[in-house]
Amino acid sequence: MVTIKSKHEIEKMREACRIASLTQKAIEEAIRPGISTWELDKIAENTMRKNGAIPAEKGYPSGVKGVIDFPGSICASVNDEVIHGIPSKKVILKEGDIISIDLVAYKDGFNGDCARTYAVGKISEENQKLMEITKQAFFEGIKYAKKGNRLGDISHSIGDFIKKNGFSVVKEFQGHGIGRQMHEDPGIPNYGKAGKGIRLEAGMTLAIEPMVIYGSDGILQLDDGWTIITEDGSNAAHYENTILITENEPEILTIL
Ligand code: MG
Repeated sequence: MVTIKSKHEIEKMREACRIASLTQKAIEEAIRPGISTWELDKIAENTMRKNGAIPAEKGYPSGVKGVIDFPGSICASVNDEVIHGIPSKKVILKEGDIISIDLVAYKDGFNGDCARTYAVGKISEENQKLMEITKQAFFEGIKYAKKGNRLGDISHSIGDFIKKNGFSVVKEFQGHGIGRQMHEDPGIPNYGKAGKGIRLEAGMTLAIEPMVIYGSDGILQLDDGWTIITEDGSNAAHYENTILITENEPEILTIL
């Protein structure tokens, strides 16, 4: 069921999203060669708790027998890891890496979700281009995030832009509605047909999140049951914001 948020609920969404955004800022400032993804996890958890929120990803159920619930406060995915990387003391960032941080702040009954891919020190031109196209794909998509348009208009725009630039779209994972639950309807693929899917209405809150691979589109899951990597070993990037559909232009809630 797609939920339409009331004015009161939107204010709560705004606050959860503000904290998610603040947390990304804190991580951005901390990223440097030599820091572990475990340390970044602690920074994120502290920032959220200081602001009265909790990290919603921590303890997120795997739903799979034998796979632990998600142990981190953030997903930290380095280089060829696409999403759902588990923070670890053993993962130390090096100059030239790229790292995707996906996090969800939960406060007062509502969730705010955003992801960024960051450069560690000086990175290659290829990585730079991958990060830029991934971020721009989000902005291409939300040009269509308007009342009366169809969901497929957003999906098509994102997928088309990524393909046109010679990169691959991750098809097995997608964006989603968000609110009281981290994942609500509708699912929002990063590819699709314009003119298809549900009609957008004011009061919908959506997490739109292009996941892009430099090489071909195959992915694999590591034995930890969480981490998704590229099959060909090329790097991947991720960029996400929670947005609000309004009577006019969409509002991005996770950019301060
Ligand atoms: Mg996310």
